[in-house]
Amino acid sequence: MNIKADYHIHTALCGHANGEPFEYVEQAIKIGLKEIGFSDHAPLVAFDDPTVSMDYNELPQYHRLIEEVRQKYQDKIIIKVGIEADFFPGYTDKTRDILNAYPYDYVLGSVHYMEKWGFDDPIQRQIWDERDVNEVYREYYHLLRASAQSGLFDIIAHVDLVKKFGHRATDNLTEEIIKTAKVFKEANVAIEINTSGLRKPAKEIYPALWTLEIYAKAGVPIVFGSDSHTPDQVAKDFDKAKDLALKAGYKEYLIFSKRKIERIEKL
Ligand code: ZN
Ligand code: FE
Ligand code: FE
Ligand code: ZN
Repeated sequence: MNIKADYHIHTALCGHANGEPFEYVEQAIKIGLKEIGFSDHAPLVAFDDPTVSMDYNELPQYHRLIEEVRQKYQDKIIIKVGIEADFFPGYTDKTRDILNAYPYDYVLGSVHYMEKWGFDDPIQRQIWDERDVNEVYREYYHLLRASAQSGLFDIIAHVDLVKKFGHRATDNLTEEIIKTAKVFKEANVAIEINTSGLRKPAKEIYPALWTLEIYAKAGVPIVFGSDSHTPDQVAKDFDKAKDLALKAGYKEYLIFSKRKIERIEKL
């Protein structure tokens, strides 16, 4: 059976995605998804940047837009309301306030920043040249663990996003991943299998198979996301994502509702 739900969909409100919510929904219906979850970028808590996330005062519009399509398409597809929130150490309370301002079916937690460096931002890509790649990777996994331990998030998104531009650690990071998987399990978070890495220089799904095997062994559950920033990307490469999950040892994935596991779907 095909994957039924895509939980990582953006909207134009974040300033770098295209298309109206109904276009994403119609694409999802067309390709046979049973469920689609919007998860646009939540307002940044550490600083402002209108090109990377929604603004706090755009949240009412975000929820209104999703509610509109939810009602309009209720006979055709299930529409969930999520959000993708950045993790910034030291800003837990502010982030929680934003996430508590509206009801969500799930919250994706993302590490896109090390301090102020948006390491996956194409505009800030040259900063990689000044950094030690192994150190960046270690810092990334440290932040991933802290994001799970913050208790803010239900699902940790794209858990090896650090590879996006093709920078690869030369150190063996197996212990680092094992430690991270253990923390995720204890923190009761799921991880996302995110196909957008295939469209980036990394040319690989997030996360890589060898790390996904470690998460599977640790019993960390999964969801699927395309990280669509245009309607044609909905559920893109989900056949490959399913193969990867099976290969890693997964037999099921989660469906969320009201920030709880609604049910488990067989792969
Ligand atoms: Zn984005
Ligand atoms: Fe992200
Ligand atoms: Fe995203
Ligand atoms: Zn993302």
